[in-house]
Amino acid sequence: MEILITGGEKMSRCENEISYFTGEMPNYTERLVRCGTTDPYGKLAICQDCENNPQIMRSINDRLSNNRADNEWLRSAGWGEM
Ligand SMILES: [Zn+2]
Repeated sequence: MEILITGGEKMSRCENEISYFTGEMPNYTERLVRCGTTDPYGKLAICQDCENNPQIMRSINDRLSNNRADNEWLRSAGWGEM
């Protein structure tokens, strides 16, 4: 599954960065990923602040639903209304 969210979108103004460690010890690499963008594992990176904010999480979920709703059957099922 791929979730692509382009960086420039207005989804949040959060500037926090989350650090991820990729690769294997001792040759791991630290990567800083801006909150709201895609992490090294292809998932959405969300910082703790946003995770604890129900409003932000809701808007993120809405956005993910909208992405999936590109499929006609989802749209006809009313998912776009969420
Ligand atoms: Zn954040």
